[in-house]
Amino acid sequence: MTGAIKYLPARTFVAVAFAVFGFVGLIVWGEYSSWKSQVSHVEAELIQTAKALVQHADDTVDMAKFPLAAVITQIQQERGAPDMPAKITQVMKSQVDTTPWLDALAVIDADGRMIATSSSIDASGLNFSDREYFVFHQSSETREPVLGRPLKNKLSSQWILPVTQRISNPDGSFGGVALAAFILTELTNFFQGFSLGSEGSFLLVRRDGVVLARAPFLQTLLGSSVSTYDLFTTHLRQRGSGSYHFTSPIDETQRIGGFYRSEHSGMVGLAAASESETLATWMRGARIRWMSCFILVTITGFLVWRWRRQIMLRRASEALLVAREAEFRLLAEGSGDLIQRFNGHGIREYLSPSVREIFGVDAEAMLGTHILENLHEDDHDVVSQVMDRLREGSTRENMVVRRKRADGKQIWLETTLNRLPGGTGGTDIRIVAVTRDVTRQKNIQEELDTLANTDELTQLANRRSFNIHFEDMVLQAAQQRTPLSILMIDADRFKFFNDTYGHAAGDDCLRALADVVRGSIRRSKDFVARYGGEEIAVLLPDTDGAGASKAAENIRQRVAGLRLPHEKNLPWGYVTISIGMATFYPARGERLTTGELFERADHALYRAKNSGRNQVAAAEQEASMATGRSDIRSV
Ligand code: GH3
Ligand code: MG
Ligand code: MG
Repeated sequence: MTGAIKYLPARTFVAVAFAVFGFVGLIVWGEYSSWKSQVSHVEAELIQTAKALVQHADDTVDMAKFPLAAVITQIQQERGAPDMPAKITQVMKSQVDTTPWLDALAVIDADGRMIATSSSIDASGLNFSDREYFVFHQSSETREPVLGRPLKNKLSSQWILPVTQRISNPDGSFGGVALAAFILTELTNFFQGFSLGSEGSFLLVRRDGVVLARAPFLQTLLGSSVSTYDLFTTHLRQRGSGSYHFTSPIDETQRIGGFYRSEHSGMVGLAAASESETLATWMRGARIRWMSCFILVTITGFLVWRWRRQIMLRRASEALLVAREAEFRLLAEGSGDLIQRFNGHGIREYLSPSVREIFGVDAEAMLGTHILENLHEDDHDVVSQVMDRLREGSTRENMVVRRKRADGKQIWLETTLNRLPGGTGGTDIRIVAVTRDVTRQKNIQEELDTLANTDELTQLANRRSFNIHFEDMVLQAAQQRTPLSILMIDADRFKFFNDTYGHAAGDDCLRALADVVRGSIRRSKDFVARYGGEEIAVLLPDTDGAGASKAAENIRQRVAGLRLPHEKNLPWGYVTISIGMATFYPARGERLTTGELFERADHALYRAKNSGRNQVAAAEQEASMATGRSDIRSV
């Protein structure tokens, strides 16, 4: 059971964790795709840029054909004329003046001497026969313009890109080279129109890997060969355009490159952007998304954590309650006492199995019954008061009450009621009652009480019991203002009886006297006790002097009627008794103590003895006659 309690939230938690991880996974995947598409986008852009660059270079080189063609035509027309160089120079100057990207035009003869130039700088002393383009045209049959290596113009000290064309003599032999020099910056300025970020770069490469232009400008790279770079050794071998990632050998930065090779000229353009810059641009958008995602996941995580914690706490407290209940039942069910739980209305919610033995019914049958059910009517008040005190805040109460068992027998129950912690008071309380059957103890106690109050010889109440009853009856008479009479009975000449017939016979005689007195008393409220040796006292509540006199006379006659032989009790020869009686009249304003009332009866008895025995003497006359006597008080 506890396993299931622990397992359930854990499983739910795992499911939620999976959902969260799934969500995070989706986000990561989405971000990765976004990054990939950003890279693809950049790559496509770079390829387009490279293409534009190469096309522009193609166009530029193509445009060089026209001034070169014009110069060569002029040379062929003016061949042999003495002012030919001057005329060509004229043509070239006007060409250069009208073409902004053109630095200079020049004509070099078959010996490498510059015979004409648009430049105003004097180059008459220089020889160009060592130049790459010169060497190339010397041995090549091609009549097409050829793109040379970038170089620094010896005359203008400007970086130029030479485009050269062979000049052929009429017999077809090598007649020199016509040269058009592009201003390299004109070409690279065009690149600046494309934004590739602060770390972006352009590279324009000739078919054979010679670098024609580079932006940002990098002098050492111009004219050098990059044919060993991956671009040439790998990528361009596979396709004419595309993209790839590489570490720049120049500045060691990680770059994305888009390349394009012109089908027309074989020139290759490479536009490259810094990977970190591309990432930074993408990161600006991604960071906001990640932040939102992080906050969302954190909040969800927190809520799930709290939700799980609450479930765990609730389960734990439920488990604790179950454990407590089990513990309570274990304790209750192992106990010989009856354990009951009541709600604030006094309804039974639980009974331990001992109920079978104590009440004679099963616990199930008692559930839902009220605490007063089957209780002795005289004890209802006690129980109600106890319940009230518990509802008002008392935590523990004790009571001893009577209850009827299922078999109809009355039992005595001693119960301790404990108010359980919790609840707001009033009827919102719960009570645990521990009940013990004390019937046996009660019975023993009653037996002991009887023994303590009974005279063994005559089975009449003893003197101790008489004293208690006497006090009560005088008090009751005073309260109810009803008369109370007392008879003091004494056997006549009993000492002689013992002497004559023995002590055992004396005892038998006393028992006979007790039986007579007991038999003469009819009213349940009347009380008979053996007061002393052979003296019996009778208390007659609600009885005046006349009534008491009748009762006394009846007893005296009955004893005499027994005719128990007593030869020394003359003149009768049988057992007789003398009775002194007194009556207390509260209604007449009398106030007497037990001692005073007893004394009156004792006086009366004394008078009966003195007047000859076997007679009844009353104290009334004495009291009424002797008004003012110190030993009898009357008010
Ligand atoms: P009187 O007529 O004046 O009362 O004479 P009495 O001999 O009866 O005198 P008193 O009442 O003073 O005597 C009490 C006698 O009762 C003393 C004793 O021998 C006898 N007696 C007292 N208690 C018992 C008893 O428990 N058993 C027996 N057998 N005799 C008792
Ligand atoms: Mg006596
Ligand atoms: Mg006597």
